[in-house]
Amino acid sequence: MSLVTRFAPSPTGYLHVGGARTALYSWLYAKKRGGKFILRIEDTDLERSNQDSVDAILEGMHWLGLEHDEGPYYQTQRFDLYKEVVAQLLADGKAYKCFCTAEEVDAMREAQMAAGEKPKYNGMWRERTDHPVDKPFVIRFKNPQQGTVVIDDMIKGRIEIANSELDDLIIARSDGTPTYNLTVVVDDWKMGITHVIRGDDHVNNTPRQMNILAALGAEIPKYAHVPMILGDDGKRLSKRHGAVGVMQYRDNGFLPEALINYLVRLGWSHGDQEIFSKAELVELFDLADCNRAPSAFNTEKLLWLNQHYIKTLPPERVAAELQWHLTEQQLDTSKGPAIEAVIAVQGERVKTLKELVEVSRYFYEDFSEFEENAAKKHLRPVAAEPLALVKQKLAELTDWQLQPIHDAINAAAEQLGLGMGKVGMPMRVAVTGGGNSPALDQTLLLVGRERTLARIELALEFISKRAEAS
Ligand code: GLU
Repeated sequence: MSLVTRFAPSPTGYLHVGGARTALYSWLYAKKRGGKFILRIEDTDLERSNQDSVDAILEGMHWLGLEHDEGPYYQTQRFDLYKEVVAQLLADGKAYKCFCTAEEVDAMREAQMAAGEKPKYNGMWRERTDHPVDKPFVIRFKNPQQGTVVIDDMIKGRIEIANSELDDLIIARSDGTPTYNLTVVVDDWKMGITHVIRGDDHVNNTPRQMNILAALGAEIPKYAHVPMILGDDGKRLSKRHGAVGVMQYRDNGFLPEALINYLVRLGWSHGDQEIFSKAELVELFDLADCNRAPSAFNTEKLLWLNQHYIKTLPPERVAAELQWHLTEQQLDTSKGPAIEAVIAVQGERVKTLKELVEVSRYFYEDFSEFEENAAKKHLRPVAAEPLALVKQKLAELTDWQLQPIHDAINAAAEQLGLGMGKVGMPMRVAVTGGGNSPALDQTLLLVGRERTLARIELALEFISKRAEAS
């Protein structure tokens, strides 16, 4: 039997990290076992669903590399199927019309609560045949009244629910539209889902869904309910904790490789290993190794992983992601060094691609002012002579390569009998605008000849203006 998993988001917002982790687990579980991963958009709540959310989900899944093998299916395009199934359940006597008014249901609830009972629909139309004509009705599923439902949850273990706890669920509203539990059941059945992996906020729906599946004579899938993710304050992860949308992580400078590695470890482990490539995950991931307890989000760890991947992924891979950020910042990479070369010298120094862009602007963008403190300290009159001499020596170079650049700076320092600091720091500020950069020769190499010479000139002008002013 082939294995089929699915991710079934409701498009009522962006793809958040909790959803992404569930999707990842479903994807991994299918991949390892040669199965199929289906994407199903549960958009039946017309008021809360919207196209922007659908797009955000598709974009997030694609960015994470969680490509589906089938779909996306849209539940709003499957109403005919749901109606057929509801009609079949009715015809088979496994569902019934309920003509209760909203007031009657409320009164029922109040009476139950007043009597100290758990409020639930009392089944008053379950066996009735005296149906009124021209009165609105909903359709309810005839939940079994005896016995228990057992979920052999692949993560949580055995869960038992007595049928006496479950009331007769509405499967079609008075306007004929199907309800959430019905559409999920029909789709899981018709799509041949063998493993339902989803957030444990759905655990209460599962016995109801299993009962409906049984009534339909459908194979009941295996269930795995993934515990929730908590923020660092121990509360359920939400917008209050900052970025929770997957694409927000892209915007903040994270690599999908880092987020994937991070998400998988939120609730799953393999010994004390922390770093996993996707291929390794496909090999190693198993639901049996998932935690039963909620996991807490830890931004520091995500940053650590991101830094690891910036440093260790092939530069051309990081470059593809970095290009997006550079474009976003309107930096023209056609006039400047190869992005891969910038990653090679800056990768060690940053935790995110956003930071990488910030510390690398001067490679792609000219500036007219120097950072105030750096200039105050290093662009002083004593720096004019070494700057001018380095400029002269660099201008004479026929070959703009690392070694000649390195030698030219050293020769200037030696000629003036100055330590490297007295030459290097003014040069750094002159060429980058500030006091932080990779090794000076590497920096100059990447800034390029024209820009280097022009910027030293700018620094010399700055120094002479400053001398005049004082
Ligand atoms: N559409 C549901 C949600 O977004 C998921 C349903 C399921 O996985 O069964 O919460």
